[in-house]
Amino acid sequence: MPLFADIVLPLAQPAYCYSIPEGAEGEALRVGDAVAVQFGPKNIYTGIVWRLHDERPSVKRIKPVGRRLYDHPLLDAEQRQLWEWMADYYMCTLGEVMRVALPSLIKPRGSSDEEFSREEFYPRTEAYISLTEKWRASEQLAAECDRIERRAPRRSQILRQILTFDASKLNSLGEMPRRLLDCDSAQIAALRKGGYIDVVQRPRSVERNACVGFSAPALTEAQQRVADAIRSSQKVHLLRGVTGSGKTEIYMNLIAQVLERGGDVLLLVPEIALTTQLLDRMERVFGSRLTAYHSRLTPLRRSETYLRLMGSEGGELVIGARSALFLPLRHLQLVIVDEEHDSSYKQSDTAPRYQGRDVAIVLASLYGARVVLGSATPSLESYANAQWGKYDYSTLVERYGSSREPRIIISDTMRSVKRGERRAHFNQILINSISDALQRGEQVMLFQNRRGFAPFVQCRGCGWTPRCPSCNVTLTEHRSSERMECHYCGYTAAVPRSCPQCETIDLKAMGFGTERVEETIAELFPVARVARLDRDTTTSESAYNRIVRAFEQGQTDILVGTQMITKGFDFGAVSVVGVLNADNLLYAPDFRASERAFQLLMQVAGRAGRREREGVVVVQTSEPEHPVIGWLSRGDYEAMARSELAERHAFSYPPYSRLVQLTLRDENRQRLYGAAASLAQTLREKFGRRVAGPVAPAVDRIRGEYILTIQLKIENGRSMARAREILRQVMDSFSASSDYKQVKCSIDVDVQ
Ligand code: ADP
Ligand code: ZN
Ligand code: ZN
Repeated sequence: MPLFADIVLPLAQPAYCYSIPEGAEGEALRVGDAVAVQFGPKNIYTGIVWRLHDERPSVKRIKPVGRRLYDHPLLDAEQRQLWEWMADYYMCTLGEVMRVALPSLIKPRGSSDEEFSREEFYPRTEAYISLTEKWRASEQLAAECDRIERRAPRRSQILRQILTFDASKLNSLGEMPRRLLDCDSAQIAALRKGGYIDVVQRPRSVERNACVGFSAPALTEAQQRVADAIRSSQKVHLLRGVTGSGKTEIYMNLIAQVLERGGDVLLLVPEIALTTQLLDRMERVFGSRLTAYHSRLTPLRRSETYLRLMGSEGGELVIGARSALFLPLRHLQLVIVDEEHDSSYKQSDTAPRYQGRDVAIVLASLYGARVVLGSATPSLESYANAQWGKYDYSTLVERYGSSREPRIIISDTMRSVKRGERRAHFNQILINSISDALQRGEQVMLFQNRRGFAPFVQCRGCGWTPRCPSCNVTLTEHRSSERMECHYCGYTAAVPRSCPQCETIDLKAMGFGTERVEETIAELFPVARVARLDRDTTTSESAYNRIVRAFEQGQTDILVGTQMITKGFDFGAVSVVGVLNADNLLYAPDFRASERAFQLLMQVAGRAGRREREGVVVVQTSEPEHPVIGWLSRGDYEAMARSELAERHAFSYPPYSRLVQLTLRDENRQRLYGAAASLAQTLREKFGRRVAGPVAPAVDRIRGEYILTIQLKIENGRSMARAREILRQVMDSFSASSDYKQVKCSIDVDVQ
């Protein structure tokens, strides 16, 4: 019997050693178990048993492990391997992985035993009803209903309800959820007493109907070829398919087969694309086999889902954002990463700063599952892997059925201005296209990648601009809330009535965001019904659904929005898509700017004319000669990829190297600059010219902290493992040095 256990706590700390007290509970401890442990004088945490051993640590007092929280380990061997890989590769602690991997409620904490116990999680149960053995035959029960009709009309009525209960709403045990019956508890009690029904309490999320076969649509010949290629693939399979080519149909076909065999499937989608539409489509085919998992679920739901899947026998389909990677899917056979190029797969703000797509590939390899990466515009990383033969590669270049590619019109903003063909932020050709569409009863989508009314306001007298007191950015004007808002820290202030510097009252809103587009469009087309989809109008899931449904059902004519409108929508009646200003996408200060701009614009364009009608996409730009605009107007992904890869190769950027970014923050500017210079110096001694910086990022002060970054570029063929090892040593001695204790430093491996 082991004497000690190394326990992972949800902290940026290494695993700690605890002693295993003698006695029943201690004996039963297994690796992967969740236990309550004391940490410091005031905290009781949930920890995960990582290693059992007999090596007495050198510290004097070793605390005992507390009690075990669940009957079964929370993690299996593959999940533990995944966590270890992440901690090693992304240079964080297992505790930091634990923080994102386990839903909050299943890892309670408290300052005392009582408080901890109060926080402990028990899945909600609900009542399920089934007929007793005696009445299970429906003819008998129907006759009984007739017999008691006069004496007990209400009871008879409820029994009839049970008789005609919708079979698709039964759980896998053939029981009906009590809440779906229209009656009160006295009547249920009476029926139970009368021997008609049994009532049992079960965790509410066990509801799942039996799985027989799924009615996924038949694939076209081209789609079938791709599906077959994926099935016979021994490697990660990259599928490039233009919007509307039927990637989702192929996924459904693959998923159905795995579920029928009793395997689990994980379908990852970017957070924003967890649209009603994709889920609806999947639910129609896979019914209650489907579990959605994303950040908008309540903590209770997330925790229930985790525990339910832990006990699953397989045959699960989970559709989720990147955090779904950590769910226990022990029969995993297929992992699909949709829109694999999407940057929201990367967690950048807190450790572990992981790339969900890459973790998905590691996860799949641990379970021996197949991987499909799908996109209309793959990331250059994945595309290069396909070119180098590391991945298999298929393409679908035509839309399904009679739906045609949209016509792309590039509209030169400068020329429009010169010719007097621009009103507010609309070039005449876009106005005409919108007006034509509205006349034909078709819908319009307008894309502007900024929310709010105006990105800044400016005094006409002296040029003064209101800025955030804690960040180095201007405040965005929001008309609907009548506030100025910082998009970095959330600070808000009243909209100034006059300039505090020169007292001029002439303040001008500069530039435009979605709010302003919405206002202008309402002035230009007063009878059109306009809605806006961005973070400000979708603070709740129901608000999001309402806007999407209204547009879907044709109750809205024009939808204005940010990135949110670009993904996962399939609206038959959209015939015009307008991009109000492509310029700010083209010149982002980032080596990925062109790739990103192309991907985003292609995605926006893909919303147009998905059915029979030919769609029109109008892209307003003052840089019509920019290469990205050229590739976009020809829809030429390969040309973009070739040209960008050549450039990346010349400067040894990813995918020809890996980038590690160190970000240093401090309220004290001088101390920060000193620390960064010294760290960069040490790194140069080890890595030479592979080190760049320190440099100040575009926004170099956020929440009162100054920021500097240092980048490390490791060319392909050089050992990343070795580089991380050296980096770890450098960082350890850096954080140990007393001069720079207050300077915060974070590491982002494969920074985006
Ligand atoms: P993608 O995911 O590549 O954008 P979808 O799978 O959404 O493409 O397909 C676009 C449209 O074409 C959808 O409305 C879909 O139902 C339809 N479609 C695609 N393939 C088929 C098929 N084999 N049978 C019937 N409908 C199809
Ligand atoms: Zn002024
Ligand atoms: Zn701010």
